[in-house]
Amino acid sequence: MELDALMKEAPLVAPMSQYEEVFWGNPDYGQEQVLPFSIEDIEDAEARLARFAPYIKIAFPETKQAGGIIESPLKELPAMGQALEIEGRLFLKCDSHLPVSGSIKARGGIYEILKLAETIAMEHQMLELDDDYAKLAIEPFRQLFSQYSVAVGSTGNLGLSIGIISAKLGFQVTVHMSADARQWKKELLRKKGVTVVEYPDDYQKAVAQGRKAAAADPKCHFVDDENSRDLFLGYSVAGKRLKEQLSQQDILVDEKHPLFVYLPCGVGGAPGGVTFGLKTVLGPHVHCVFAEPTHAPCMTLGMMTGLHDGISVQDIGLDAKTEADGLAVGRPSKLVGNVMNSLLQGCYTIDDSKLYEYLKLLADKEGIFIEPSACAGFEGPRHMVCSEDCQATHIVWATGGAMVPEAEMKQYYERG
Ligand SMILES: *Cc1c(COP(=O)(O)O)cnc(C)c1O
Repeated sequence: MELDALMKEAPLVAPMSQYEEVFWGNPDYGQEQVLPFSIEDIEDAEARLARFAPYIKIAFPETKQAGGIIESPLKELPAMGQALEIEGRLFLKCDSHLPVSGSIKARGGIYEILKLAETIAMEHQMLELDDDYAKLAIEPFRQLFSQYSVAVGSTGNLGLSIGIISAKLGFQVTVHMSADARQWKKELLRKKGVTVVEYPDDYQKAVAQGRKAAAADPKCHFVDDENSRDLFLGYSVAGKRLKEQLSQQDILVDEKHPLFVYLPCGVGGAPGGVTFGLKTVLGPHVHCVFAEPTHAPCMTLGMMTGLHDGISVQDIGLDAKTEADGLAVGRPSKLVGNVMNSLLQGCYTIDDSKLYEYLKLLADKEGIFIEPSACAGFEGPRHMVCSEDCQATHIVWATGGAMVPEAEMKQYYERG
């Protein structure tokens, strides 16, 4: 479609093409839709993670206390809520501090590789459903997995998560990194024995190269960030986990107590999977909103035009260059956009400079440090209005940060 015609059909494309901040409310929100996933898929993923818990506990001792379950706390932010003048209570979902890889990718990424390992081990009659999966940590399994390889294209955090878990299990693993990936992430992976291939281009090229390299090798599993059902379902388990945390903290979710969840969005898999999980488990009174940088609003653009992965931010003249490296994506996932048609309340865009302001404010008010991408959600509550007799709960989903080196984090802080 020509740009002029597009702007007529979707009036927000004009300000977006000038890097202006926008909020888009989804007109199809809440309508009937047949989805390609169900609650059974979430439960299947949850059960698989439970089977692997004895292994995770051994392989990553930091998960011992949680019994090998990789989960993050839900923390109230009273001082931050006050500073931002938010009506209702403000919480942070601390996926920034998820064990193993310190970002939301410790959900989907690790899940996909565990499922792969389970499938291979079962094909070789070395594992059954009711076995104690702790045995996956012993030599015959590492030997088995070393005959297989894993490849992934990433802006950084997915590579970290896939690299760490794959190397731990014994797979040969290659991470194809885009230009915006941080140096420290590449170094950390190389130290763990991961092959890191660097590309001067953007995320999409890195993914395409990874896909190509993997296609030539039948024993190579390619983690497809743009299409993977397994990644998506790994993220969706967060819906069940959050429901439990809400009830533990006596937080109601009903007509008078709406829950708003703000999720930073790159290609869409992580926030999409979490949204699907939340809507499936908590129902109509949880409202999910995606946050994207003004330079790379691929999901906002795909949803509002209905073109999904048929349009890129470059098509409307944007450069897809952003300090929010986890969100530096020009074209949305093929899989996720359609699933979000009726599930997503809306999307907004945020200027990069504000990410650093929120980063500093969160550190000053609450003593919590998260990465710039992960701060995009703090702009969300500003866009929501709640009727007078309602008491809203707002959750900002912090998607990464715990593994950022101190010196790097200090620079982020100072920029704010
Ligand atoms: C990956 C990532 C996101 C978004 O996930 P997508 O699946 O790419 O949409 C958000 N924040 C951080 C820090 C990330 O690493």
